[in-house]
Amino acid sequence: MAEPRAEVVIDLDAVRANVARLVELAGPAETMVVVKADGYGHGAVEVGRAALEAGASWLGTAALAEALQLRAAGIDAPVLCWLDAVGTDMRAAADAGIDVSVSTVEQLKAASGARLHLKVDTGLGRSGCPAALWPELVRAAAESGERVHAIWSHLACADVPGHPSIDAQAERFARAYGEALVAGLEPRRHIANSAATLTRPDLRFDMVRTGIAGYGLNPVPGGESLTPAMTFRSSVVSVKEIAAGESVSYGHTWTAERDTRLALVPVGYADGVPRLLSGRFSVLLNGERRPVRGRVCMDQIAVECDAATRPGDEVVLFGPGTRGEPTATEWAETIGTIDYEIVTGMYRSRVSRAYR
Ligand code: PLP
Repeated sequence: MAEPRAEVVIDLDAVRANVARLVELAGPAETMVVVKADGYGHGAVEVGRAALEAGASWLGTAALAEALQLRAAGIDAPVLCWLDAVGTDMRAAADAGIDVSVSTVEQLKAASGARLHLKVDTGLGRSGCPAALWPELVRAAAESGERVHAIWSHLACADVPGHPSIDAQAERFARAYGEALVAGLEPRRHIANSAATLTRPDLRFDMVRTGIAGYGLNPVPGGESLTPAMTFRSSVVSVKEIAAGESVSYGHTWTAERDTRLALVPVGYADGVPRLLSGRFSVLLNGERRPVRGRVCMDQIAVECDAATRPGDEVVLFGPGTRGEPTATEWAETIGTIDYEIVTGMYRSRVSRAYR
């Protein structure tokens, strides 16, 4: 088979090491590793298996279909799914032993037979039962005779340690727990994402739900040292010279001040290189950072290079940063987004994926 034009390489040892560290930190709380959106672009099944090997005991997904994909791959660990469209047939969850999140009395009925996690909105303002309706939901759940495993919630600003909303949400969560007890439930509790797991030991409760940290990206600057698991690489397809005064790529946004060698690399915004990076980034080519010139196109970029550059030479777009290559976090900072979006964007990309 021909060499791939570009690929993401996932370091499952890095995933295992990151998850093992989170498990150690979170204990005795259990660790759920969140593998929605195909494992944040890293591969849900592969990451799920690696996470379980490293001591995680749960996996989490948004959609039921994602949870069923884990079961189809033979993963029999507990899995929670939390966000499905109205009308999704939840009987498959019960049949496959998948836990389901419930925020309304209607969802409670639809999820009958599955083990349930009742979700309270403590201030994120997305899914989750509003505080005013919560006593009714926990009462209905207690009376239904369904299996309620836990109550849970999600934090809005855990990546800003000390943000007042964290304590406000924790207080509302404590109240919601009290109301669940009054209704006769004896649920476990979970609220912490990666950032809260790393910074708020008091919020780890019975389980933490870590996503981004398991992939090696730290949501809290300067915190725990983790290893990014994804490397995005390609190789030079051709090398050419342009003369001083000539311009490169659409819109002629960059003009060579002197005679310049350019290496063409077959990756573009269709492959997960944000067009917003145009004129503002470099890649690692033969061990050195080299600037990308002109606009990012759909299928290619032009990298300034030297006389030693040859077709076939490796180009690292981003990686863990250990060889001097950019990181996904650096890309995110450059274009004003979060590294979650960069790595998860590879999920829909046409780039192939390899594991090591
Ligand atoms: N819990 C829920 C409900 C989520 O939606 C997510 C991800 O967005 C997580 C936990 C994990 O968050 P993080 O990746 O910040 O650890």
